[in-house]
Amino acid sequence: MLKLLEFNYCPRCGHKLESGVKTRPACGACGYIHYRNPAVGVAVVVIADKKILLGRRKGSYHGRWCIPCGYVEWDEEVREAAIREFKEETGLEVAITGICAVHSNCHDRERQTVGIWFFGRVTGGRLKAGDDLWEAAFFPYGKVPELAFPTDRTVIEDLKRAGCL
Ligand SMILES: [Zn+2]
Repeated sequence: MLKLLEFNYCPRCGHKLESGVKTRPACGACGYIHYRNPAVGVAVVVIADKKILLGRRKGSYHGRWCIPCGYVEWDEEVREAAIREFKEETGLEVAITGICAVHSNCHDRERQTVGIWFFGRVTGGRLKAGDDLWEAAFFPYGKVPELAFPTDRTVIEDLKRAGCL
């Protein structure tokens, strides 16, 4: 339970938080309930000649690869977030052409996310790793390098089964 209490005191009135209903910390003084929900992550799957574009990560999961991704900002529409993140990380402009997959990412229990993988079609730009990536490159299924996230592996396996890779 204590792990859930990222706040020990009510951010509204300063009273000590207690365990509330459904394990949500709650304030016995003012009724404030501290909801904790997963963040939303977005990724874009771009496939060319049966190869998928992956990026090698700089920050967390340093050196491992992922399908280019990022977080949705407050007030940002999910597709716009996916297009923005992809451009920041790969230098490429994409049009979103569909939804590839949706998964819960619980590999890091303290930073859980719901991930949405979109299919994208490149519409412009030039491939150049930026922002959170060391490099970005296309890989055939058999040469996919060590991945940062188990759900990216699931997505890639499903793409292989569907004949996309
Ligand atoms: Zn309170």
